[in-house]
Amino acid sequence: MGRLAGKVALITGAGSGMGKEMALLFAREGAQVVCADRSGMQDSVAAAIGEAAVAVHADVALSADVQNMIKLAEQRFGRLDVLVNNAGFGGGMAPLHEQTEALYDDVQAVNLKGVFLGMKYGIEAMLRSGGGAIVNTASAAGLIGWKNHSVYGAAKAGVVQMTRSAALEYAQQNIRINAICPGMVWTGLVKASAIHATPPPDARPPFGVAMGRWGLATELAAAALFLASDEASYITGVALPVDGGYVAGH
Ligand code: NAD
Repeated sequence: MGRLAGKVALITGAGSGMGKEMALLFAREGAQVVCADRSGMQDSVAAAIGEAAVAVHADVALSADVQNMIKLAEQRFGRLDVLVNNAGFGGGMAPLHEQTEALYDDVQAVNLKGVFLGMKYGIEAMLRSGGGAIVNTASAAGLIGWKNHSVYGAAKAGVVQMTRSAALEYAQQNIRINAICPGMVWTGLVKASAIHATPPPDARPPFGVAMGRWGLATELAAAALFLASDEASYITGVALPVDGGYVAGH
């Protein structure tokens, strides 16, 4: 029996990086998976899984898209048990006065409002079916200060606090809400940045990661699986660093 046998899971940002690994892992663990992304790459991820998956185009910053992806989960698979609000982007690193208002709005819309919308409509679906588990992808940058990441860090700190408060609101309605806080993980988001051009194992993370290496998307998927599964049945309101000891050392 898989750890998500019989469950219906929806993952945003499922087209690449951590979201892709979550979709593949959750399916291997028995879940039916809705793969949501705005990139188009969700189609090949769902195709690789096969009948247990469906792809949907969704921009998590748009209410209509979020409502549509939740409705698809219910229509195709009958309900929603697990929601991973994982879609996000960094927005580039720069001192605060060099960050533009347009970029600020975009970073908050995707990283923070996107999680709000996912939870708002996902929780409605879970209340309809009697419960569920939500995992939000925050960041180590939402737990500690991170130079040149003030706008992104503010959005991710918002995700952490929204996770904690919402967890209290639904704790007695059988909905658990937790966050994972990745440190430095080798994904498209990082690879796109020229300063990190050398791939692992040669590349070293630029900051003080205690384990001295990048995290892998599969390691983040494993943490999300644990929090999404019944193994975490007494865990809610947690913001779990998955960061090779980065936050512990700061
Ligand atoms: P990634 O770029 O490989 O994957 C992110 C996915 O999200 C992409 O497929 C992208 O198309 C999708 N996406 C972005 N904006 C979207 C939107 N508005 N609607 C729908 N889909 C959207 O990056 P990743 O590293 O796997 O990122 C996953 C999450 O982890 C993000 O929330 C990111 O902020 C967070 N994170 C990453 C790191 C890291 O080191 N990689 C560290 C901390 C937090």
